[in-house]
Amino acid sequence: MSKTFASQADLAEKVVSFDRLSPNAYAYTAQGDPNTGIVIGDEAVLVIDTQATPVMAADVVRRIREVTDKPIQYVVLSHYHAVRVLGASAYAPRHIIASRDTYDLISERGEADMKSEIERFPRLFRAVDSIPGLTWPTLVFERSLTLWLGKLEVRILQLGRGHTKGDTVVWLPKDRILFSGDLVEFDATPYAGDAYFTDWPATLDALAALRPEKLVPGRGAALQTPSQVSAGLAGTRAFVTDLYALVKAGASAGRSLRDIHRDAMAALRPKYGQWVIFEHCMPFDVSRAYDEATQHRDPRIWTAERDRQMWADLET
Ligand SMILES: [Zn+2]
Repeated sequence: MSKTFASQADLAEKVVSFDRLSPNAYAYTAQGDPNTGIVIGDEAVLVIDTQATPVMAADVVRRIREVTDKPIQYVVLSHYHAVRVLGASAYAPRHIIASRDTYDLISERGEADMKSEIERFPRLFRAVDSIPGLTWPTLVFERSLTLWLGKLEVRILQLGRGHTKGDTVVWLPKDRILFSGDLVEFDATPYAGDAYFTDWPATLDALAALRPEKLVPGRGAALQTPSQVSAGLAGTRAFVTDLYALVKAGASAGRSLRDIHRDAMAALRPKYGQWVIFEHCMPFDVSRAYDEATQHRDPRIWTAERDRQMWADLET
């Protein structure tokens, strides 16, 4: 029997948590659905990743209003994926901040990615008609940007490639809190369809070198102790490394993508199969790993059509 495409069969709503990490930082998480980070400065609020639609983002705004009435002036995009960025208009921010690489990816493949993601995961695009179009950054940085929200220092950093070319993290040095975007997941399968497998572990080293005491991953619960942070970093690293090693070995042995995918599923399921979206991510992750191990240094653009073709090739 063929598997339902991507996450089209995933219809159960998740329970939202809104956790206070410090007087300046909150995490909006939902049992493995995409997270949003909140930083509250002396006079303004900054949001990291927006949710997929303005209607969904309105729930984040409602939670923020339970803890502060300061204006939401900044949105940071951890990367370009539709499910993270298309709710931005709900915050009516003064600035939308992204790395130059993220800006370039939105220009190059934002439209294709929006169509592809909406078809992959309909539940995560509740009230999809409320999306006004692509989200365009208004403030673009290279490598790092420091924002002072009054006395609160907020460092916006691009520390290397991993989940995408443009990955950006937000670091609060005083509180030692890191918002990692999808560079780190917890109890959730890393999506790697647009990843740089070779670079990802070194980027995780750069995150670890900040020595965060708390970390908000892209998906999964907020990590609230240094040992939880280490577990999140280690789990993500293990998955990325294990998967790429298997696919690389298969590719150099000249095996077909379909065979490599089948064997990678069997090999990784015992260790990672309980993580959310494992079945959804694996075909995309293995496809990208195979590309990187063979002939495509940069991820090819996923379109709704390419998604379907790949799924038909690997899953039926
Ligand atoms: Zn992503």
